[in-house]
Amino acid sequence: MSEYDYDLFVIGAGSGGVRASRIAASHGAKVALAEEYRVGGTCVIRGCVPKKMLVYGAHFAEDLHEAARFGWDVNDPKFVWQRLRDIVQTDIDRLEGLYGNTLSSHNVKLFEERATVAGPNEVKLASGQVVTAGKILIATGGWPVPAQCEGAEHALTSNEIFHLEQVPGRLLVVGGGYIANEFAGIFHAFGSDVTILNRSDVLLRSYDQEIVARLVELSKEKGINFHFKASLQKIEKQADGSLHVGFNDGTNADYDTILVATGRAPNSAGLGLEEVGVKLDKSGAVIVDEYNQSSVPSIYAVGDVTNRVQLTPVAIREGHAFADTVFDNNPRIVDYDAIPSAVFASPPIASVGLTEAEASAKYGDDIKIYRSDFRPMKNVVSGREERGLYKMITAGSDEKVIGLHLIGPESSEIIQGAAVAVKAGLSKQAFDDTVALHPSMAEELVLLK
Ligand code: NDP
Repeated sequence: MSEYDYDLFVIGAGSGGVRASRIAASHGAKVALAEEYRVGGTCVIRGCVPKKMLVYGAHFAEDLHEAARFGWDVNDPKFVWQRLRDIVQTDIDRLEGLYGNTLSSHNVKLFEERATVAGPNEVKLASGQVVTAGKILIATGGWPVPAQCEGAEHALTSNEIFHLEQVPGRLLVVGGGYIANEFAGIFHAFGSDVTILNRSDVLLRSYDQEIVARLVELSKEKGINFHFKASLQKIEKQADGSLHVGFNDGTNADYDTILVATGRAPNSAGLGLEEVGVKLDKSGAVIVDEYNQSSVPSIYAVGDVTNRVQLTPVAIREGHAFADTVFDNNPRIVDYDAIPSAVFASPPIASVGLTEAEASAKYGDDIKIYRSDFRPMKNVVSGREERGLYKMITAGSDEKVIGLHLIGPESSEIIQGAAVAVKAGLSKQAFDDTVALHPSMAEELVLLK
């Protein structure tokens, strides 16, 4: 008999926490999990999943507009936001149920309440119950950083944007990262007049800037506005419900909705972590070693709360590796090299490996760049001028592919297969040796000059 109530107590039922619970339980551990909001976490409940569903909805705007060129007369199409919003939320309920089933089918005890750490092997639930566990896993994710200005309470974050009553007439999106560019594209397609406000003129800093420049160019052509080198100074709610915004560059403008997307901070406050000796960095992230172990040996952390790579598949891998390491005597570390990622903007950006700037910093002149700047066939038929851009970066005399950067329709679908080749360390020659699949956009990857 264990001296503890559970072998593992997980705090947070997001991607990392659920995977760790399930795998630990399948290795024979007695597992409990506490979740204060909804099982599924950010990705399922108010992140990647509902966002991608909205992206699908947004695509219809251009497709319906161009349908006539493909022979279809679609008379006077109308977008009903409330219908899409509610269907998305119904599916989120379904997914939440599936996650719950996974936990119960693995005999993971679920506490639907907030839990805090009370000691190296002790967790206190909001109900007052104290539970002991051999190991505690912190998987509490991240939280949107709110606006820091007078009237900040009038701005929304990605947590609330899925539940809007109606599509905003004028939408101000603050920030230049993933969430800003994705929601700018979504709400522009739904009919909002969208402005992106960014403190610098650099968007999506971690992406290849030549690809990002193409996104900005295309976004401007679509009618998305950019307000660079400025920040929010003041938000005032007007009598008619609109929001009057003063910027720190002396300008001002009125909007109906403001979405703040200036990053997500680790969700570690008030969990009792520092009180028991768990070291946090200055952003509040739990400091862990490569085995996800914190400065307190019985306490581990995975996912966004550790602020390593804020991506769902990474949190899932960390949770899985933790469970195998601790409960299957199989030490495993996550390999963070060549992680593919995408920005579901319009059109999407997809990337794996080093950007040109990173590659030249690392390899100097020993890199080569190949590009394909092409007009997708579908755009030729529809009469749209929009061009895709694919970029390959190689290093050394064997021309190992160290970076692939795409912007264009379906690029987020195309990159996954190509990422296998980059991860496997293949060369440009291996791409060239692969026969093109014609006609497709993906074939550009094996025809790069
Ligand atoms: P990002 O880190 O992508 O971007 C944050 C943006 O806000 C940057 O443009 C940054 O500018 C700017 N910013 C940061 N601090 C301030 C500030 N104090 N004032 C003004 N601007 C500021 O964050 P997001 O919120 O868009 O997304 C959070 C995370 O969620 C992402 O990092 C990503 O890991 C994940 N995510 C992933 C998605 C995907 O995989 N498709 C989709 C959505 C989110 P600067 O560059 O100057 O620092």
